Amino acid sequence: EVKQQGRDGWHFFSSSLEEKVRKKLSITQGLRMAIEREELSIRFQPIVDANSNRIVAAELLLRWHPDEGEISPAVFIPIAEMTGMIVPIGAWVFAQACRAEAEWRQRWGENAPAYISVNVSARQLNDKNLLADIEKLVTRYNADPKRILLEITETSLMADIETNLRMLRGLANLGFRVAVDDFGTGYSSLAQLTRLPVNVLKIDRAFVDGIENQTESRAVVRAVIGLGRALGLKMVAEGVENQAQLLELRNFGCDYIQGYLFYRPLLEDQFIEVVERESSLTPTDAEPPIFFL
Ligand code: C2E
Ligand code: MG
Ligand code: MG
Ligand code: MG
Repeated sequence: EVKQQGRDGWHFFSSSLEEKVRKKLSITQGLRMAIEREELSIRFQPIVDANSNRIVAAELLLRWHPDEGEISPAVFIPIAEMTGMIVPIGAWVFAQACRAEAEWRQRWGENAPAYISVNVSARQLNDKNLLADIEKLVTRYNADPKRILLEITETSLMADIETNLRMLRGLANLGFRVAVDDFGTGYSSLAQLTRLPVNVLKIDRAFVDGIENQTESRAVVRAVIGLGRALGLKMVAEGVENQAQLLELRNFGCDYIQGYLFYRPLLEDQFIEVVERESSLTPTDAEPPIFFL
């Protein structure tokens, strides 16, 4: 009825705003039911060694496909964070990580990927039950926390550094590894990084994107890799899409690569196939995947 009142921009603006609000509301309501309706699924994106190109790890990525069609995590995760739905959804994701870790170790033994990465929202770190809930899942699935890497974005990590620090120390004490995700987009200082139990930095795709032709991105990526390595951290570059980017990253000393150049996020069965095909082509005396020293 808003549209009938006139064709001027204001009315169009107000109706599209209304639409946005309605969409957010329907996503919020849909998310409440997503777990029991079994509308959530997961993908695994392989992470490879920058020099051997062998798969060393995988990042678990969430997918939501309600009846209306798939909705991107870039859209629904922020809404889940605002409404608190990320707590039960995050627990579901975490259970999947524990299950897969234990299954893959059963299947491949020491040749299993060195770890599974799982994204954790700052909102989950604020949940005082988190440690107890996670311990239960680890026990239930017989998972090895040392083979699970918790990714938290730089921006959310730094937003409430004291709370996050306490929680991350608790998680690190349980054996989990910690990565700073989307690194370079926030404002962490060297001093803060050394206070955190961090093992890995993941360089944001935005920087990798310009590495072949933009002097500034090149400088940032080179400096960040140098900094990370000086601190004894493992460096992962995200969103690597072409050979030129790979070559630069290798030259800068980046340890690991994640991106469409090698693999897109895969169904778990596909991931298993890819790992088994790769290991059938690998000499039997090759080292098992090593990630952390
Ligand atoms: P992220 O954790 O930084 O994950 C990497 C994203 O980059 C994924 O998008 C992945 O599909 C995409 N990507 C990987 N390689 C390339 C590439 O070469 N080119 C391009 N263009 N993209 C690439 P996705 O799966 O859509 O996830 C988006 C974000 O949603 C994630 O960014 C993460 O912040 C969040 N997310 C996904 N799953 C979860 C989850 O289970 N829990 C939480 N809290 N957040 C999640
Ligand atoms: Mg991530
Ligand atoms: Mg990222
Ligand atoms: Mg991201």
